[in-house]
Amino acid sequence: MRRTYPDYYDKFTCIADKCPSTCCAGWQIEIDEEALKKYRELKIETVDFKDGCFKQDKEKRCKNLNERGLCKLILEHGEGILCNTCRLFPRHIEEFENVREYSLSISCPEVAGYLLKRKDPVTYRTIEDDEVDTEEYDPEEQLIYKKLYILREAFFDIVLDRKLSFAEKAGRILAFAREFQLQADDILVNGGDLDLIDVEAAKAAEHKPLEITSGQRYELFKVMETWEYTCDDLKEVLEMTEKALHSEGAPYDEALERKMRECLLTQGMDWDILTEQILHYFLYIYFCGSAYDEYYYGQAQLAVAACLHLKDFAMAHFKTRGAISTEDVIYYTYLYARELEHSVPNVLATESYMDEHPLI
Ligand code: SF4
Repeated sequence: MRRTYPDYYDKFTCIADKCPSTCCAGWQIEIDEEALKKYRELKIETVDFKDGCFKQDKEKRCKNLNERGLCKLILEHGEGILCNTCRLFPRHIEEFENVREYSLSISCPEVAGYLLKRKDPVTYRTIEDDEVDTEEYDPEEQLIYKKLYILREAFFDIVLDRKLSFAEKAGRILAFAREFQLQADDILVNGGDLDLIDVEAAKAAEHKPLEITSGQRYELFKVMETWEYTCDDLKEVLEMTEKALHSEGAPYDEALERKMRECLLTQGMDWDILTEQILHYFLYIYFCGSAYDEYYYGQAQLAVAACLHLKDFAMAHFKTRGAISTEDVIYYTYLYARELEHSVPNVLATESYMDEHPLI
């Protein structure tokens, strides 16, 4: 098995009761069969055995949380009592044949804080061991994965090239992903062999820096208003952002962006590096996984959209409050990731919007 980890993977430690936004609130936590069996035997009262999840209180907090934000199950039975979802979060694993790609989700404030504060590019460590996959895989999907992997390597080179602006990076990534998608769609429609997808041709696709109008930006922003939410926090951020940036169809405010960037720079946060980390993160975790849903261009667009959405929040915050801190940016990032990454309907709503209104 080939296993790949980002270089910060082993540094993560859950800060439990010091966490500003516990992962045990908002989401319905699905319990795996093995853990459910154990909970039945122990007659754990906080489990909804009918739906196979933990019960929640009125604020959607897991009923296992005590007043200090600690898990009563762990306190009483030890870490071994946890179901897979609780044990693994914020760890995420993408699975391909004899390949596992590990990551940590930025929906956890600790991970978001770590990633957004670092200045150097993330690197990856790959190890091989003797374990052989026992899962069954669709050979065509694995073939696509190998091609996407090569394309993603090219994306990483682009993302990490600090001579390129965000618009230049986004323009290239989107053009290459779109070309890959067009080739794949064409082959599928004509019943051809997916091995004929030419990754080098995709990497040579014509490109120009991403340009989006303020109208397009507003429409992309409005997609988030169609999302389902785990709590009201993101809704409040959207209301603030719409009021500050979009309500009168105002043109894009470059001076505001410049001031927002300067404010963060005085605190050591460079928006270009932050965007590099976010793009890198989304492409690493999700781009190759599109081998399973055939929406390669959609995943590339999602990574770019995340950067645009987060910049909207930061600019709106700066305009509304007259200042912005690095902690504010970290808050918006994990809040956004919480509502997007763990919700299939929200991912689909965003992808489907961009399918009809592609960024390029
Ligand atoms: S969100 Fe992260 S830091 Fe907070 S409780 Fe969950 S795993 Fe721990």
